[in-house]
Amino acid sequence: MSLESVNPYTKQMIRKYSATSDDEVNEKLSLAQTTFKQTRVLSVESRRELFTKIASLLKERRQELALLAVLEMGKPITAALAEVEKCELAARYFAENIHAISGDKQLAPNKFVKVLPLGCILAVMPWNFPYWQAFRAALAALSTGNTMVLKHASNVSGCAIEIERIFSDAGWPKGTFQTLLIPSEKVKDLIHDVRIAAITLTGSEAAGRSVAKHAGQSLKKTVLELGGSDPFIVTAQADVIEAAKIAAKSRTVNNGQSCIAAKRFIVEKAVADTFLEQFVSSLSKMKLGDPTLAETEIGPLVSETAYKDLLRQLSRAKEEGGEVLLQPKLDPALNLFGPAVIKVPKSKVNKGVFSEEFFGPIALYFEVENLDEAFQVANNSSFGLGSNFWSKSQSEIDRAINEIEAGMSFINSMVASEPLIPFGGIKNSGYGRELGTLGPHEFVNMKSVSIGST
Ligand code: NAP
Repeated sequence: MSLESVNPYTKQMIRKYSATSDDEVNEKLSLAQTTFKQTRVLSVESRRELFTKIASLLKERRQELALLAVLEMGKPITAALAEVEKCELAARYFAENIHAISGDKQLAPNKFVKVLPLGCILAVMPWNFPYWQAFRAALAALSTGNTMVLKHASNVSGCAIEIERIFSDAGWPKGTFQTLLIPSEKVKDLIHDVRIAAITLTGSEAAGRSVAKHAGQSLKKTVLELGGSDPFIVTAQADVIEAAKIAAKSRTVNNGQSCIAAKRFIVEKAVADTFLEQFVSSLSKMKLGDPTLAETEIGPLVSETAYKDLLRQLSRAKEEGGEVLLQPKLDPALNLFGPAVIKVPKSKVNKGVFSEEFFGPIALYFEVENLDEAFQVANNSSFGLGSNFWSKSQSEIDRAINEIEAGMSFINSMVASEPLIPFGGIKNSGYGRELGTLGPHEFVNMKSVSIGST
C-alpha cells in the first residue's frame, strides 16, 4: 500500500510513499507512550529551548520546505514561504509563553491548578496549509508535555515527513512527534487504541463527524476545526474601497482553499455598486498560473477532483438562480480555476448549493437593505468559523461582535490565523480552540490541588 503525491499543476506523480504498516504503527504508538514519561517531566526551560530550536530549523529550511508544499499541493511559492515563516513565529511564541501556558495556576496560598499533559495526541490534518495546520496543533500539544502522532492528508506525505524531521533534529526525545503515513480508513482504529489520549482533527465536516463518533464511543476528547463559509459584511459606514480590496484577497487566499477565506460577501445596497466594481476589478487582475513563480497570486486547485467538484458547484449555482457577475478563467489541463463572483437571490440564501462551502475562488455575493438583514444572512448558515465586518461606526461594530454567530470576529480586516489569537469555530465549523494561551489547555488535565485544611 502506498500514498501518492501528485503535482496539481503538472499532474505528474512526484513520489509514491510506502504506507506505515500496522506493525510499524503499533511500534510508534508504544514508543509515543514510553516517550511520554520523558516529555511530561521536561522542564519549562528545556521546552523553551526546544521550541527555539524548532524556530531556527524552520528559518534555515524555509526555502526547501516551501517548495515542497508548492509541488505537493499547489499554493503559490510566496504563500508557501509565508506559511513556513508563520510556523517559525508560532514556535517562537510558544517558547516565549511556555510559562503562561504550562505553569501552575495559583488560586489561593494553598490551592492551585496543576497543568498536566494527557499523553499521546492523534492529529489528523489537511493538505491546504500542510505545515501551519500541523505545527499549530503540535506546538500546543507538546507545550504542556504531550506527545503526538500525525496522520497527515494522503497527498502531502513529503511535508509530513519533513515536519517529523524538524522535531527530531531539534532534539525532542525520540518519539515525541511521529508521522504515520496511513489512509483515513485507519483513523478509527487509532482513536480506539488505549495509547491515544485525545484527538485533534482539522478537515471537512464529514471527517469531523466520523472522528467525533468514534472518539465518543471511546470517551476521548476531541478538538474539531472544520469547514467554513465566513461572511464578509460591508455596511454603508465602511471604507468600501479598502473593504473590496481586502475582500478579494480573502476570497483567493491559498487559491481559494482556506477554511477562513471569506466566502459570502454581504453588502448594504447603498454601497453595493462601489463595492462590486472594486471587488470584481481586484479579482480580475489576479495573476493565475505556475505556483513556483514569485508573481503568481493564484495557483492550481489541489487536484483534478477538486477542480471538477468546484466546476460542478458553479454550474449548480447557475441552475439554482445565481447570477454570474464574474466568469472564472479556466484551464482544466493545469487545474487552474480563476476567481468568480455569483450574486445569490434573496430567496436562495442558505438553500441548495448556496448552503455549501465553496472550496475554491468562487465568491457568493448578497445585497441587503440594512444591518439587520446583513446579520440575518450571515447567521443563516450551518457554519460558524470566522467573520469579517467592515464599518467605521462603533455601534455597528459592537453589534457585529455580539450578534454574528462565529468563533472569530475580525473588524475592518480579514480573518487570519496567528499564534496569539485562539482559533476555532462554533456550529458545524467544529469546537475547541487552538493557539494563544487558551488553545493548549484543550489537551491537559487541569488537576485541582488543595493542600491542608479547606
Ligand atoms: P478532509 O477530506 O476531511 O481531510 C482532512 C484530513 O482528514 C485528512 O488527513 C484526511 O485523510 C482525513 N480524513 C478524511 N476523512 C476521514 C474520516 N472519515 N475519518 C478520519 N479522517 C479522515 O478535508 P479536505 O477536504 O482535505 O480539507 C478541506 C476541508 O478542511 C474544508 O472543509 C476546510 O474548510 C477544512 N479546513 C478547516 C480548517 C480549520 O481550521 N477550521 C483548516 C483547514 C481546512 P486523507 O487525506 O487520507 O483522506
